[in-house]
Amino acid sequence: MTEFERHSYDVVVIGAGGAGMRAAIEARLRGKKVAVISKSLLGKAHTVMAEGGAAAAMGNVNSNDDWQVHFRDTMRGGKFLNNWRMAELHAKEAPERVWELEAWGALFDRTKDGKISQRNFGGHTYPRLAHVGDRTGLELIRTTQQKIVALQQEDHAEFGDYDARIKVWAETTVTRLLKDGDRICGAFAYVRETGKFVVFEAPAVILATGGIGKAFKVTSNSWEYTGDGHALALLAGASLINMEFIQFHPTGMVWPPSVKGILVTESVRGDGGVLTNSEGKRFMFDYVPDVFKDQYATTEEEGDRWYTDPDNNRRPPELLPRDEVARAINSEVKAGRGSPQGGVFLDVSSRLPADVITRKLPSMYHQFKELADVDITKEPMQVGPTCHYVMGGVEVDPDTGAALVPGLFGAGECTGGMHGSNRLGGNSLSDLLVFGRRAGAGAVDYLESLEAPPSVPEAEVEAAAAEALAPFARPEGENPYTVHGELQQTMNELVGIIRTESELETALEALVKLRERVENVGVLEAGPGGRGYHPGWHLALDLRNMLIVSECVAKAALTRQESRGGHTREDHPAMSPEWRKVNLVCRLDADGGVELRRQPLDPMRPDLLALFENSELKKYLTEEEIPS
Ligand code: FAD
Repeated sequence: MTEFERHSYDVVVIGAGGAGMRAAIEARLRGKKVAVISKSLLGKAHTVMAEGGAAAAMGNVNSNDDWQVHFRDTMRGGKFLNNWRMAELHAKEAPERVWELEAWGALFDRTKDGKISQRNFGGHTYPRLAHVGDRTGLELIRTTQQKIVALQQEDHAEFGDYDARIKVWAETTVTRLLKDGDRICGAFAYVRETGKFVVFEAPAVILATGGIGKAFKVTSNSWEYTGDGHALALLAGASLINMEFIQFHPTGMVWPPSVKGILVTESVRGDGGVLTNSEGKRFMFDYVPDVFKDQYATTEEEGDRWYTDPDNNRRPPELLPRDEVARAINSEVKAGRGSPQGGVFLDVSSRLPADVITRKLPSMYHQFKELADVDITKEPMQVGPTCHYVMGGVEVDPDTGAALVPGLFGAGECTGGMHGSNRLGGNSLSDLLVFGRRAGAGAVDYLESLEAPPSVPEAEVEAAAAEALAPFARPEGENPYTVHGELQQTMNELVGIIRTESELETALEALVKLRERVENVGVLEAGPGGRGYHPGWHLALDLRNMLIVSECVAKAALTRQESRGGHTREDHPAMSPEWRKVNLVCRLDADGGVELRRQPLDPMRPDLLALFENSELKKYLTEEEIPS
């Protein structure tokens, strides 16, 4: 008999990034007993790494900004494949969520007249990113943690127990969602420090597990982003959408090796940094696609004037949406005009005085100085695309965050739809706050509508434990690190930034073989410490998730025969209005294989469609979709 701890909650939130923290706060504020589970230490989520800021149309720096402009930018950035209802809710509610964060203690940078300062970012018409230097995510997490501590203090005063209504389970990894019939009834997890198992009984579970970057070799993501929430949802019977759309951030460091993949925030370009090739040319002027031609400067002079006079000049093409910039860098490198180590140059040193750089970009300066001895006030960086963000994720109801399985909810990067085929920078932090809150509320409404709560079947728990222990039963099995390395290589080389049919087919064949190997990875029982802090075991379990999401990405990428946002097919380079009407939906079949289905997108509500000129809509929509 395997031993378990058991705990009961109303709502279990898996993930303690911005989405999870905001969801947990909402459920607790509405009187529910909540657990927040985090694979990493509390405070160490991707959210903490977010540098640029949270996009919200507050109009503090340019009063022309409003939710309609933000909505339009988001839809354009996502190439009209976004779930328009999510984009609408996001644009309308983001300012309120940022002000709420301020009321909870977040210290944003200010404008001269004392308002929350907002900075420029790619694809945003006006300065829109509320920020705290280049440490905005840190402030978001610090503030939500502080809010949770304040709520725990209230609970201590009322019940004599800090954890009475909200408890954080740090360094605890969920490996399975538990079901009672077709409903969610909890989650199964192990504690990293001890390896012991915990059964969380709860009628509502919110997934907020972030991204999938560790399935790729070059990535800005850290160790815990192994697509767990995506895979947990699929294994529980839910669906994923848009998995072919992966954002390769254009500016990851390519050199030196100590910082390979690490992100150079878009703020470097937003604040004046430029991209040049080995010939010293600002090449982005050659890469402005037709759909964006009217909005971007055609000369360096005009682009440079925009930094000080944005109302009378068009923005420089270095600030095109990320997918465009990433593809342009890729093309320059392929054409032999790259930097010595295979990137291009990103230079802010010749554009801004050193003291301005260290004031506006303090983390960038310190990080690269300390980790790589690169002084960004004195020399250009060498940068190239790095796997950064997954637009695809759990298919959820826009208003409530409900997934297809009753009792399952999702928010943040592990969900799909909001960003369509490409996310605009800064739209994630505000997404976490808007939809974290909505998922928390959705879970509470669901609980309150339940006539009889589910209970956890023992067989579910035993099966989850057996699955988690399986790698120990194969001490001669293959090393999980070897298999992980090959999976990452396959995804990077064959399902990366530029894709072709034959490469994707090769990738899928490789993934079939990797699946067998993932099922046979083995680890040794680790001496007297037992299962405590056993990284090989942890990876062995994570591999199942990375493999499932990789299959989804590769299958969807093979099926979508067009190029759009974070999906570029060399053999189908154009954007197709017919494909825009389609979402690719992944589910698991009875044997655990990935099943792909085409699902029509809901037509956009007429009042939202009316926010665009027909001449613009023609670039994206089919004839019959365009209003007469
Ligand atoms: P995360 O913050 O990624 O948190 C996920 C949580 O889930 C973590 O606590 C993790 O431990 C936990 N978890 C995962 N799996 C499990 C499991 N199996 N069991 C238990 N817990 C689990 N976006 C912006 O809008 N603006 C920016 O300026 C910006 N800059 C960025 C810079 C970098 C370097 C990176 C990597 C991303 C940046 N992004 C930015 C993107 C943004 O930070 C992320 O998309 C966002 O923070 C994701 O938040 P989340 O709450 O969905 O998940």
